[in-house]
Amino acid sequence: MKILVLNAGSSSLKYQLFDMDNGDVLAKGNCERIAAGGSITHKRPDAENFYEELDLPDHGAALERVLSLLTSKEYGVIESIKEIDAVGHRVAHGGETIKESTRITESTIRYLEEIVPINPLHGPPAIAGMKACMKLMPEIPQVGVFDTSFYSEIEDFRYIYPIPYEYYEKDHIRRYGFHGTSHRYVSGELAKALGKPIEELKIITCHLGNGSSITAVDGGKAIDTSMGFTPQEGIAMGTRSGSIDPTVVTYLMKTHGYTAQEVEDIINKKSGLLGVSGLSNDCRNISEAAEAGNYRADLAMKIMINGIKKHIGAYTAEMNGLDALVFTAGIGENQASTRAAVCENMSYLGIEIDPEKNENFTRGVPFDITKEGASVATWIIPTNEEYMIAIDTQRLAKN
Ligand code: ADP
Repeated sequence: MKILVLNAGSSSLKYQLFDMDNGDVLAKGNCERIAAGGSITHKRPDAENFYEELDLPDHGAALERVLSLLTSKEYGVIESIKEIDAVGHRVAHGGETIKESTRITESTIRYLEEIVPINPLHGPPAIAGMKACMKLMPEIPQVGVFDTSFYSEIEDFRYIYPIPYEYYEKDHIRRYGFHGTSHRYVSGELAKALGKPIEELKIITCHLGNGSSITAVDGGKAIDTSMGFTPQEGIAMGTRSGSIDPTVVTYLMKTHGYTAQEVEDIINKKSGLLGVSGLSNDCRNISEAAEAGNYRADLAMKIMINGIKKHIGAYTAEMNGLDALVFTAGIGENQASTRAAVCENMSYLGIEIDPEKNENFTRGVPFDITKEGASVATWIIPTNEEYMIAIDTQRLAKN
């Protein structure tokens, strides 16, 4: 079975074509600068990358070019679009109604259009991608896999914010949680790596990338997560502040005369590692600068790391225990110094890592960095959201 996975951003369309018989990626690529010029990079494992600049006025035009490349004599991997058995879409937000991966129909699209106000950045491109598929491949089943759906069973007292209840009822303001597909995938892979049923495990998964979130997974179900109404809440990230006293926002608006949009740009695009260090949003640059003695870079790293530690402590308390800690995504999978700093002085909770294993880890595979005798297993698990989407898509397309 061949599954095409699409991830539509505001000006981009990423794709991967999977052969589900063996899990291989036959081809993948990225269309960029959609509606503002356009370019495409198309990769096959056995050939040189193909790159071209072309006019991509919308996501439909981008998808059309992707399909023509996938089926082209020179750069293609299939002879006809008919070889694609199903399309899986990465969708950031499924609102309160969509609680699991689902077949995309006209009515799903109508619902996603209704919730655009709470998903203004990611909703419209995802919908555009679905509509383009319906037009260009009307016979092929489509499935939506939602970042929020892993959190659909979180209990009300963990998702309702303590503000007047009417804002939940009328405006749908609540914790939704994001990166769910990644947390679901790595917690499942961890259980496999430990050889234990996930139903018996209390796991904390740390997805640390440009955007970062931490999730408590108890018995295979997410019971709490750090991101909230938007991906802004939680720990300090590349350019996002994470959780701050909300009055900071209104104070800035009152004293500087900022508009809502201006202050949102400050906390979303100019804060976090970038804002504190004044140097970069990239954790590599910040940790290098910190090691070289830059005070603000060091401070930015400490703020981020302390946020991670606090969430691990809180989620251990919420689950009344912890069996395993997982690091994933760009920072979690690659940056040994951050993992070491997070796990330092955590032996009270049973978290102790082996410095040798942590430094000399193998990239790209699940890797155990637990110190012998520690009660909590600590692992690096590479995330693979696209493959998780392909698995759900295959399951739902068969039904
Ligand atoms: P996104 O949220 O954009 O998907 P990623 O998961 O790609 O982000 O993570 C980006 C972060 O990962 C950056 O802060 C970067 O410094 C860090 N990172 C990526 N690769 C490495 C590496 N080889 N060593 C250390 N840090 C890395």
